[in-house]
Amino acid sequence: MYTNTKTRGSSRAPNYSSRSNRPSGGNHGGASFGNRSTRPSSGGSRSGSGRPSFGGNRGGGGRNKRKSSYERIDVSRFISKSTVVEKEEIYLPTHTFGDFKIDTKLKLAIANKNYIYPSPIQDKSIPHALEGRDILGIADTGTGKTAAFLIPILNKILKDKNETAIIIAPTRELATQIEVEFNDFARGMRIFSVVCVGGMPITAQIRNLRRECNVVIGTPGRLLDLVKRGEINLSSTRSVVLDEADRMLDMGFINDITFLLEKTPDDRQGFFFSATLPKPIEKLIERFASDPVKVMVKTRETSKNVEQDVIRLARGEDKIDALCDLLSKENEFKKVLIFSEMKHSVEKLSNELVKRGFKSGSIHGDKRQNDRQRTLTKFRNNELNILVATDVAARGLDIPEVTHVINYEIPQTYDTYIHRIGRTGRASKKGVALTFVG
Ligand code: AMP
Repeated sequence: MYTNTKTRGSSRAPNYSSRSNRPSGGNHGGASFGNRSTRPSSGGSRSGSGRPSFGGNRGGGGRNKRKSSYERIDVSRFISKSTVVEKEEIYLPTHTFGDFKIDTKLKLAIANKNYIYPSPIQDKSIPHALEGRDILGIADTGTGKTAAFLIPILNKILKDKNETAIIIAPTRELATQIEVEFNDFARGMRIFSVVCVGGMPITAQIRNLRRECNVVIGTPGRLLDLVKRGEINLSSTRSVVLDEADRMLDMGFINDITFLLEKTPDDRQGFFFSATLPKPIEKLIERFASDPVKVMVKTRETSKNVEQDVIRLARGEDKIDALCDLLSKENEFKKVLIFSEMKHSVEKLSNELVKRGFKSGSIHGDKRQNDRQRTLTKFRNNELNILVATDVAARGLDIPEVTHVINYEIPQTYDTYIHRIGRTGRASKKGVALTFVG
C-alpha cells in the first residue's frame, strides 16, 4: 500500500551495549527537602529558610500547553529506507566505568545494570561532572543522559549524606522513568528519592518529602506548588537537573523552571539537558549555568535505523480500516506506538481497536496517572501490543523494542515527527515509522 524511496538520515543510534533490565524499586525515607521535617534521620535534615509567597496553587503535568502552529510539512520527508544496522559507526568511549572516580558501590550498581561501556554523553560529561562542573548536554532520549546526571549526583550523596538534588522533567512519565533508574542505581545505599508530579495526590508527596530524602524528581507545576507551600526548600540544594529543557519550554513551563532555578543557590551544580537549544533555553542556561561543559551527542536528523514511509488512503477507503489492515500483520506489527493529536481522538481510536479485537491501550493527559502507568507497564510487558498516545503523554518515554511508530495524524511540526519516530529503531534495532497523509 505504501511505497519506499531512497535512503536519508545522517547518523547513529546509541551503540553502547545494554542487556537491559528495568526493575522498579521502592524509595523514601532522610536528608530532607521539607521544611517541617518530622523524621530527620541518618542523612540529617535541612532547615527551611524564607520562602516565596506568591499565591495560588498550580498543578503539575501539562499545564499552559502552548499549541504550536502547524508547519508546512513536506511529506516526502516522511519517506526513507533504513540502512543496514550493522554498518553503524561504533562510538569508542575514552573511558570505562572503572576509570571514573566514583564510589565502588556505584560501580557495582552500574555493573548490576549490565552497563558495560559509557554511552557518548556519559563518556564525555561524567568526568567533568565529577569535578563539579556544570554540564550542558545536547542530547535526546535514548542516549543514556539519565545516568549521565544520576551517577555524579549519587556519587556526591555517597560522599555526603546531606547532599540534595532536584531533578525537573517535563512529564510525569519521564519523572517516573528517572525514578526507576535512580532506584536501580541507589538500591541498598539508603539514598532516597521522592517523585512529585501532578495528577497524583499531593498529600502523599508531602508526607514523603518530610521523610528522609536526598533527591526530588518532579514536574515543574507540582514542584512549584510544593515550593510555594513551603514543603520543598531549595536554598541548600547542591545539584539541579533540567531534563528535556526544550520540551518544558514547549509545554509552557519556562516561568516555572526559571522560578525554581532562582530558588537554588548560585554555587550549586547544574545539569542542563535539551535535545535542541531554542533561544529562551539558551538564555536560561546562560543565566543559570556557570561556564558549563558543553557536550553534544545529537548529530542525527533521524535515526538510520528507522525506515520511514507514508500511507495514502485509496479513494473511499476508511482510515481505521486501513490501520487495522496494517495491524493485522501480526508478525510484523509486534509492538506499535500510534500517535494521534487530541486526547479524545486517542481514546476513541484505542477503544475502536479494542472493539475490533486488538490489544490496545491509550495514554493521554486526561487519564489518571495510575491508569497511564498501568497501561505503560502492560505495553512494556507485551500484555498490550498497541499503545495509542498523544505527543505530550509519550514524550521522553523509553520503551524498548517498539517495532512500529504510526502517525495516525500528521504531526504539527517536523521536530515532533522526529521525536515520535525516535521511539522506535532504538538500541541498534530496526524500526518502522508510517505516517498517514492526505
Ligand atoms: P536514557 O537516554 O537515559 O533514557 O537511556 C536510554 C536507555 O539506555 C535506558 O534504557 C538506559 O537504561 C540505557 N542505558 C543508559 N546508559 C547505558 C549504558 N552505558 N549501557 C547500556 N545501556 C545504557
